[in-house]
Amino acid sequence: MPRFAYVNGRFVHHADAAVHIEDRGYQFADGVYEVVAVMDGDFIDRQAHLERLDHSLHALRITPPVSQPVLKLLMQALVRRNGLKNGLLYLQITRGVAPRDFKFPKAAKSAIVMTTSRLDHGQLGKYDHGVRVVTIPDIRWARRDIKSTGLLAQVLAKQAAADAGAFEALMVDGDGYVTEGASSNAWILTGDGVLVTRQPDRSILHGVTGNTVERLAAELQIKVERRAFTCAEAQSSREAFLTSATNFCLPIVQIGEKTVGDGLPGQVTARLRTLYLDYAKNRQGEAFGWSL
Ligand code: PLP
Repeated sequence: MPRFAYVNGRFVHHADAAVHIEDRGYQFADGVYEVVAVMDGDFIDRQAHLERLDHSLHALRITPPVSQPVLKLLMQALVRRNGLKNGLLYLQITRGVAPRDFKFPKAAKSAIVMTTSRLDHGQLGKYDHGVRVVTIPDIRWARRDIKSTGLLAQVLAKQAAADAGAFEALMVDGDGYVTEGASSNAWILTGDGVLVTRQPDRSILHGVTGNTVERLAAELQIKVERRAFTCAEAQSSREAFLTSATNFCLPIVQIGEKTVGDGLPGQVTARLRTLYLDYAKNRQGEAFGWSL
């Protein structure tokens, strides 16, 4: 079956999908994106992703190319057309095509591209074994709350992780505090059973998955503290995990050279992952929203 992409008003074969060379996304990374997981043919937390998309667009003063109801229909149509049961939908909106000039163009219309990819959310060995992460300095700009397509720092971070044989890089700010993973939010469980993750200010991207996990933790009567933590605190924590739309709730078993806990995925992490999977499959009707 041919795979389709959605490009500026048309569904086109993925192999033929293209944008203009003067699209500002290509020239300036002047755009934003979202990655929404699809499970059993349905989106997980779509509304929350669209709320964050609005936040990103608004922060950059990019006018949405279509209304939110229309965007929802287009997302659904692409998933159906591609016969996607389990995987991801990638959505990117840029300020549009205009002669290269830094200032906002007067006439450009924002441009939109969507693609899908398959991913088996259930059968990934990394959940059973957990993953290793490295730590690296966070060299990004000061508006990390915007899900910008400007991802060069994350490209370097992911490559550093891959070079070290690790799954993810935890980025660390100038004061020694972990901000987040290169494409995930970072969580730890303290010795007295409190979940800790960084406060959702401009220093991180406020994750949709993490936002949901926070609410699910409350259902399990687990206390969540939103505050910064250092690398050392993470390394000596009882459990650690990552959250993202791609990996849901993923146990970390090693940070740098240091084993976390007993080196196995933690029990609280496993309970949250199970609850998240149930929420993703069966509770989208009561989906949690997203706000800063
Ligand atoms: N932080 C960063 C920098 C990310 O790129 C991502 C996801 O791509 C996340 C956090 C997790 O966000 P979400 O749970 O919405 O996927």
